[in-house]
Amino acid sequence: MKNQPILSCRDVVVDFDGFKAIQGVNLTIETGEIRFLIGPNGAGKTTMLDVICGKTKAASGQIQFKDHPDISGSQEHEIVNLGIARKFQAPSIFSNLTVSENLELALKQDRGLWSLLRAKLGGAERDKMWAVMEQTGLLYHRDEKAGLLSHGQKQWLEIGMQLMQEPELLLLDEPIAGMTGVEREKTGELIHEIAASCSVVVVEHDMDFVRQFSKTVTVMHEGQILCEGTMDEIQQNPMVAEVYLGRRKDHA
Ligand code: ADP
Ligand code: MG
Repeated sequence: MKNQPILSCRDVVVDFDGFKAIQGVNLTIETGEIRFLIGPNGAGKTTMLDVICGKTKAASGQIQFKDHPDISGSQEHEIVNLGIARKFQAPSIFSNLTVSENLELALKQDRGLWSLLRAKLGGAERDKMWAVMEQTGLLYHRDEKAGLLSHGQKQWLEIGMQLMQEPELLLLDEPIAGMTGVEREKTGELIHEIAASCSVVVVEHDMDFVRQFSKTVTVMHEGQILCEGTMDEIQQNPMVAEVYLGRRKDHA
C-alpha cells in the first residue's frame, strides 16, 4: 500500500505586495521521506518553508497536513502543535543556558523560563531528552553552556530542540551552512536518522551534500517547481542547467 502523503501543497501562491514569490506550487511529501529542495537564490525555497510553517500566509491554495485538509489559514503555534517543526537559519538557542537546559526549555515553551527550569521533568520527558542528546551527539556536552559549543554543535542543538516536540515533519533551511566537512557528514547522517520517525524537508544549495544524502530532489526556480527526481535525473534535465548556469533560453 502506498504511504499517505504527510504534506500536500496545492496551487500555493505567496504574494508580497504584488510580487509573487510563490506562483502556484504543488508539492507532495510522503510520510518518512527526506526531500531536498534546491534552486538558485531567490527561487522561493525559504518562502516555501515559511508558508508551510505559517510564518508567511498564502494568498491562495491549500496545504494539507496529514488529515488536516488545509492548514494554510492556521497560526504558527497551531501548526507547531499539529506536528510541523521549523529550524530557522538564525540561531535561537540560549547561549547562557546549558545544552540540557535548552532542550528542557524547548519541551514546553509556554511554561515560561523560570518556572520551567525549577519544575522537574517527568520520566518520559527525561528519556526523550537523553535520546535527543544521544542522537545529536551532545550527550557529553549536556552541562556545557550552549554559547561555548562549536558552530556545528549549536546547529545540532537547535535541531534537537525541534525534536523535543516530537514533530512529524521537520523543515530545515540550509542546515550545513558554515559547517566543516566532518560536521556536514554528521548532519547528513543525523537527518537520515531523524527520518526514521519524522519526514524531513531540507533546503540546501551544497550540491555535494545533496548528492550524498538525497533520494528525491525538487528544483525550484522563480517561485515555481521546475522538476523533481533523483539527483542524476535532475542533473540531466537541460532546464536545470539553464537556471543554474544562466544559459539563454532562446539560442537554438
Ligand atoms: P530562496 O530561499 O530560494 O533564496 P526566498 O524564498 O528567500 O528565496 O525569496 C524568494 C523571492 O521572494 C526573492 O525574490 C525574495 O527577494 C522575495 N522575498 C522573500 N521574502 C520577502 C518579503 N518578506 N517581502 C518581499 N519579498 C520577499
Ligand atoms: Mg533561502
